[in-house]
Amino acid sequence: MKAMVLNEICNIEENKNPLEMSDVPDPVPGEKEILVKVSACGVCHTELDEIEGRTSPPKFPIILGHEIVGRVVKTGSNAGKFNIGDRVGIGWIYSACQGCRFCLEGNENLCVNFRATGRDANGGYAEYTKVIEDFAYKIPDVFSDSEAAPLLCAGAIGYRSLRLTGIKDGQNLGLTGFGASAHLVLKMAGHKYPQSKVFVFARSEKEREFAQELGAVWAGDTDEESPEKLDCIIDTTPVWKPIVEALKNLVAGGRLVINAIRKEDVDKEYLVRLNYPTHLWLEKEIKSVANVERRDISEFLELAATIPIKPEVEEFTLEEANKALLELKGRKIRGAKVLRIHS
Ligand SMILES: [Zn+2]
Ligand SMILES: [Zn+2]
Repeated sequence: MKAMVLNEICNIEENKNPLEMSDVPDPVPGEKEILVKVSACGVCHTELDEIEGRTSPPKFPIILGHEIVGRVVKTGSNAGKFNIGDRVGIGWIYSACQGCRFCLEGNENLCVNFRATGRDANGGYAEYTKVIEDFAYKIPDVFSDSEAAPLLCAGAIGYRSLRLTGIKDGQNLGLTGFGASAHLVLKMAGHKYPQSKVFVFARSEKEREFAQELGAVWAGDTDEESPEKLDCIIDTTPVWKPIVEALKNLVAGGRLVINAIRKEDVDKEYLVRLNYPTHLWLEKEIKSVANVERRDISEFLELAATIPIKPEVEEFTLEEANKALLELKGRKIRGAKVLRIHS
């Protein structure tokens, strides 16, 4: 099969084609696994973290991609959850041990043996992929393949982030950074917390306009002061400045949730501007979001189908994966980027 393969860690601004189109053997499903013909695979900022080594795959070559929508074409000898032809999704959680303290407590996202799709196992930048059937999800009919793909990561982790803010209806929500995940959170918040106002911080004028089109009551630059104090803020940026600047806008006892698998070091020195009385005192909290659980994905897919939430998507071919990644790096974002592989 054809796949866009990552052979080594590199700097994407120096090597503009980090992924190489290759012919690789078709995956063979194990007894509890299903083989999936990939229809669409979302392009996520985490791929940049993998390519540039901030969350490095343990071995190469590796096929990236963890927002996968496709159809079951083969089932393992002991797999019975899906039929041939069923449309399924695969997200960032590829597997977890199901036996450790975290798995047993229902926090399989924190499992010591957590394995990620497209990092610890081959993902969806390919014609086919495979997964344990219990880690695949039925996709509600209301979504097209491309619409469903970004829901599996950006949407599910956005759902988890919103859950971790502890927000109550009527409280003010801030979003710093306005990419794929944040624009889905804005739509979710509008449905789940109709009395809450949403304030958006984004560097680019275009993103700010987009946020207001989607219902934000206010949008400003990353370092601006919001017109009202915020009960909670979700950060989806790859850098540090937005975190420091967001903290000043929190109410006493407010919570900042950082939804990023890794932060880049480019502006790490900004952290010395952290001023305890302005940014942290009065019981402000900071909480990070790690991975997703299966229930985040399945609950979110249901919620998204009910509302319905349909992400704005921009489609690329499999061959154009490098182009999509470079645009993401350059923050040329309007909605979510998706590779359209088989129609
Ligand atoms: Zn992702
Ligand atoms: Zn475990």
